[in-house]
Amino acid sequence: MYNPDDTIAAVATPPGAGGIAVLRVSGDKAEAILRSLFRRADGESDWESHRLYYGRIIYENETIDEAMGVLMRAPRSYTREDVAELHCHGGETTARCVLDAVIACGARPAMPGEFTRRAFEHGRVDLAQAEAVMRLIGASGEAAARAAMRQMAGETSRGVLAAREQIIDMLAEIAACTDFPDEIEEAPTARALIEKAGALADALENACDARRGRVLEQGLSVVIAGRPNVGKSSLLNALLGEDAAIVTAQPGTTRDAVRGALRLSGVRVNLIDTAGLREADSEAERLGVSRARQAMESADLIILVLDGSIKETTEDTALLKETADSARVVVLNKADLKRENGAAYDLALSAKTGEGVPALREKLASLAQSLQGGGALLTQARHIEAAKRASRALRAMQETLRNAMPLDLAAVDAQEALLALGEITGEDATTDVLDAVFRQFCVGK
Ligand code: GDP
Repeated sequence: MYNPDDTIAAVATPPGAGGIAVLRVSGDKAEAILRSLFRRADGESDWESHRLYYGRIIYENETIDEAMGVLMRAPRSYTREDVAELHCHGGETTARCVLDAVIACGARPAMPGEFTRRAFEHGRVDLAQAEAVMRLIGASGEAAARAAMRQMAGETSRGVLAAREQIIDMLAEIAACTDFPDEIEEAPTARALIEKAGALADALENACDARRGRVLEQGLSVVIAGRPNVGKSSLLNALLGEDAAIVTAQPGTTRDAVRGALRLSGVRVNLIDTAGLREADSEAERLGVSRARQAMESADLIILVLDGSIKETTEDTALLKETADSARVVVLNKADLKRENGAAYDLALSAKTGEGVPALREKLASLAQSLQGGGALLTQARHIEAAKRASRALRAMQETLRNAMPLDLAAVDAQEALLALGEITGEDATTDVLDAVFRQFCVGK
């Protein structure tokens, strides 16, 4: 059972061979345990907080290891309790022996995530910040690590708290209206509340937008499509400003999706050059073609390139039709040559001379900007689920008010939204939710 008054101990470094292993002890007995096991080399015993001392770990008159010891007195520690750390030699045997000695002196083995749970229980971090610790430890790459750091610094929590405050304001307005029905008119209050609840629901849904999350972490995916020889590779190069794709006059040689990336409005834009989307006659080409179609289907934007110097072909017509319902820009290339193509287009440009290319860049930049769209972003499944529940409750609140139901009923919806948001930061998290969150941690964290 979880007893918050026990002094807990665990090896905080991963198992296996290593240079050093760090043991962590937290709780009332931490200092006494440190004093009884650690013999400082300088022979002194006045432990200054947050200072590393060199010495030996001695248990039952036997030296277990040479080590460094540090005492971090409450409340200036990870758990806000007294914390002692022993930095001993790496390797499972030594760390295990030291841990056994620490436990023999009165600590008990910590459960997974118990140190961080104490930091949460003692108000050092909220639940979203505690989860960020785990996210940081498990981060797969730099972008994910940066997002975890922001969450740890409280970015997620601040957004959630601001949303909660808005709901509390709405509840206060409802209370004022029902408490003083003679002084405050119900209809204008309801109208204002419908608007506020809607705006907040919009903001929460925006924060849950998986596409925005992906764009921020991985970038915008832009596919350059068109039949062979219209100038897709040339346009890619013009956009990138370098020879990233092999330009060739022979149709169908750029089979694979050649990628290049540029940064526009602070967002990474991944450019994907597709193979010619014509009926494939060889196996390799068929593979290339299917990749091209896949890329087109999952793209945030399709740049459909047409050759302006020749008449629209049936392939062009087919592609125009196929992409009609997608987010696309129709580009009429080879504007430096005499125009023969009568197709409707968004932009005329020349990949060869560069004329019109800046306008295309601007179009891409504004799309990147709109998708980057300000405001908070939730990326953890648990947070997204709770925020969606809150936005559903706010939509229900709008319905209640639109149907001119009593304001008390709208307050019930608002309360539900408030509780859902409270689960994210932990204010209103049940023990079950807390247990589930901390169970995913590793021992020693
Ligand atoms: P892709 O098969 O669609 O990738 O087309 P490429 O980029 O390989 O270009 C096909 C041919 O068209 C090459 O010979 C290019 O030099 C030429 N080309 C591309 N863009 C332009 C342009 O804007 N003007 C002119 N005159 N030729 C171009």
